[in-house]
Amino acid sequence: RLSTLSKAVPLCSAVDSVIRSCRYARRSTAYPARDTATLCVYINNGENMGTGTKKKILIVEDETQISRFLQLELEHENYDCTVVADGREALAVALDGDFDLIVLDVMLPSLNGIEVLRRLRQERQTPVIILTARDQVVDKVTGLDIGADDYMTKPFAIEELLARIRLHTKRAAAPAAFLAVGKLAINPEARVATYDGHPV
Ligand code: CA
Repeated sequence: RLSTLSKAVPLCSAVDSVIRSCRYARRSTAYPARDTATLCVYINNGENMGTGTKKKILIVEDETQISRFLQLELEHENYDCTVVADGREALAVALDGDFDLIVLDVMLPSLNGIEVLRRLRQERQTPVIILTARDQVVDKVTGLDIGADDYMTKPFAIEELLARIRLHTKRAAAPAAFLAVGKLAINPEARVATYDGHPV
């Protein structure tokens, strides 16, 4: 039906955009088990589509099956993905790159995700969604306390993660309401204060 519509309205960018952002007959993509009985139509809200610059997502995950799955799904949604499987490397890449969002696993080789986040927050306010098999309240609280923007527990529904990614990249793209007095800068929304560029 959509391809018919496209022919009927040639070169209509709006229709083209809708077609490109539709995922018809797409299987439910709860990880790890895919429910083959459930077909769903997933319509992107269009924010990450079109001719604009792709949003950059850093995927930090040491289970290749999951990171590959995430990469495929996110690239399908037109995100530019970088995948890292090691904690220390993730921190270096996150500090070096200009990512719009980081999906961060907790149990990682060399440096766990909580520590990666703690060190990252000393320099960057990149939105972070923690993604982990752990579901203990203490892990969620720790992650959120040190500056995670959101938290998802495996197994997760990819549609929910995508919705959260859209939410946080959109929020991050909005101009921040900064208050500045001399060298003191306060971002009330992010609850972050810096003096001379250093967190206080
Ligand atoms: Ca892991």
